[in-house]
Order: sequence, then C-alpha cells, then structure tokens
Amino acid sequence: MHIQTAAVHTLKDFEHGAVVPPVHLSSTFELDRASEEGAFAYQRGANPTRAQLETVLAALDGAEHGFAFTSGMAATAAALSTLVVGDEVLLPASVYGGTYRFVDLVLPGRGITGRFVDDLGALTAADFTPATRAIFVETPANPTLRITDLRRIVELAHRHGALVIVDNTFMSPVLQRPLELGADVVVQSATKYLAGHSDLLAGALTTNDAALAEAFALAQKAQGGVLAPQDSFRLIQSIKTLPLRIERQQANAEAIVAHLRGRADIARVWYPGSHSEEEARIHASQASGTGAVLSFELAAGLDRIAFLEALRYPAYAVSLGGVETLICRPATMTHEAMTDQARQAAGISEELLRLSVGIEDIGDLLGDLDQALAAAAR
Ligand SMILES: *Cc1c(COP(=O)(O)O)cnc(C)c1O
Repeated sequence: MHIQTAAVHTLKDFEHGAVVPPVHLSSTFELDRASEEGAFAYQRGANPTRAQLETVLAALDGAEHGFAFTSGMAATAAALSTLVVGDEVLLPASVYGGTYRFVDLVLPGRGITGRFVDDLGALTAADFTPATRAIFVETPANPTLRITDLRRIVELAHRHGALVIVDNTFMSPVLQRPLELGADVVVQSATKYLAGHSDLLAGALTTNDAALAEAFALAQKAQGGVLAPQDSFRLIQSIKTLPLRIERQQANAEAIVAHLRGRADIARVWYPGSHSEEEARIHASQASGTGAVLSFELAAGLDRIAFLEALRYPAYAVSLGGVETLICRPATMTHEAMTDQARQAAGISEELLRLSVGIEDIGDLLGDLDQALAAAAR
C-alpha cells in the first residue's frame, strides 16, 4: 500500500458501517469477572481510539509499534527514557530548542549527559565513549536545513552499541522513513505536519524493536503523557490529508526558493541540499523531497522589520507544518535557548528568517513576498 492510501485506508470496518472510526471516551473498561481480563482496562494504559491512531502512526513509518503522546516533547522525553545514570547521548548543537532545553536542564539531574556536537556529519569512532548510549539526529536540521547522512550515523552508532533516534518532524513519513534506513526510533512532533492545521498538540514515537516498544509503553503508563481520545481521533482525520498537504506545501516552497535565489535583495536561501552538492546527494538518497521549510536572509541594507510588517499572509509565529504560511526569526524565537556561541557555530544569524510554507495560492504568496521586499528596500 502506498503512503497516500495507507493514510486513508489503514483503519477500516467500523461498527454500523461508519467510514470514520468511533471515539471511545471511557476512562475505564469492564473486565471479565472470572479472569479479570479485557482488551482495555484503563485509558492511560491503552484505549481503543489511541490504539487506532497508533496503528496509523506505525503504518506510515513502516513500523511494528506506534505510540501517541500529548506533545512532541513528551514523545522525545519518552524516547530518551531508556537512558540511565552514567549514560551519554550525542546531539547536534542545532537540535530543536525544546529538546536542547530538556537535555540541558533535565537530563543532568538524572545523571545523564547530553553532549552537543557542532556537526554530526563529521562524527567518527573517536567521538564514542563506553557511556555513549544514543545519538539523537535531526535531518534536515532546523533552521539551517543542513543534512546528516542517516545510513552513516546508523552504521557508526550500531558499531558502538548506541541507539539512533531520529526527530523526523520536518520531513514526516511522507518524505523520509528513517526506520527503513536502520534507525531505532522515530520521534515526531505531530503538532506540525501530521496535525497540519495549527490546532492540535501531539507527539509520536515509532520503532521496530520489541524491547524499546515495551519501554515506550511503560513511559506512557508510568509517566502518563498520553494523547486523549478526542485528540487521537482528530489526528487520525488530519493524517488522511497529510500526503496531499505535503505535496502542495512542497511545490509552493520549491517555487519560493526558485523565486528568491540569486536575487540582489536576498543574501542567502537555505533549503535541504542547498549547502553543498554532497548534502543534496545525501538528502536525495534518504528522502523523497525537500519539504516545505526554508530559511533566508535579506541583503544588507534592507529593513527586516519593514519586510515583516509589510507581509500580508505569513503570520509572524513559531511552529511549522500547518496549512497557513508562517514566518519566524529563529535567533530570538525558536533557538533562544542556545548560547550565542552555539548559534554562531550553527550559522543562525540575528537576521535569518524561517518560512514554513502553507497551501495558499503560489501567485498570492510570491506577490506578497515581492511587495514586502519592495517595502524593505524603501
Ligand atoms: C515542535 C517540535 C518539537 C516539539 O514538539 P511539541 O509538539 O511542540 O512538543 C520537536 N522537534 C521538532 C523538530 C519540532 O519542530
């Protein structure tokens, strides 16, 4: 089944011939009085509607097991819940700000070290210590859209007994399926592309590893950050249009990149593969498209604030993946938790702007950018 069909047809044959799944709100479930068993017992452990969503999440990633959480950060925390005192996790310095905060402020209290490296692509055997238990990867990176070779990281990590956890939020399973490349765990902020309408906070984990699946089920049951039935239903419905939305958002993003590149009033444009031919080749070998997030800087002398104020359609807001185009300034909005030095090392300047492209008419979006650039030059 192709992913476009899986998004729609993974769940089937509902009661009464309904074509959408029922929502089961019950917090508790009757047990057999003799055996005291039942398919479901209490909503936190498992419930039928969340279980249906988890089946869809697994299907999209080609995974054995899927888990739904209240947010991407709850999913990330669960992904890292298998680490114990003395363990170390390696992460890129440009990792998502919330992940940076969790690793920087929470893990040390548990005796777990997060080691941030400037370039995961340059990782070698010498970077591993006996304590290195996991590598956390984001490719494309945010907001630089730099690419990491997933097959290479998987090979290196597994040779040293470390897990590979991939935050696949920017690509979604429509464009990149890291488990198929050997990664152990995929994390997603389902708040972004999976939900797609900027109206739902959720997180997803998938894995093919039975022991990790048991640990993630324990994280759900013991820590309780599970997605509610109504939100699980809404995510099931949103996912049906995920492939369609991504296709349109990506086409719009490609048109914007083509429109902005090489212009005198634009200093640089970054998108997956833009940094080098090598990165473009690696990205093309592990993903089927460049997605719909790009970053750019206005040329020196242009007024960034005048540009932002003149924009009619993009909201000036963090987050991404929704049907509406959003623009933000990573240095002060999404990556403010990083030190100035780490931001500079990652190439995130004060002037860099990140665009999450929506499904609007491309002529309207390009016209809007043009008139805002004209306003910035005045
Ligand atoms: C938003 C985001 C997260 C966190 O997800 P929430 O749903 O906001 O908790 C994690 N990783 C990436 C790449 C994100 O963009």
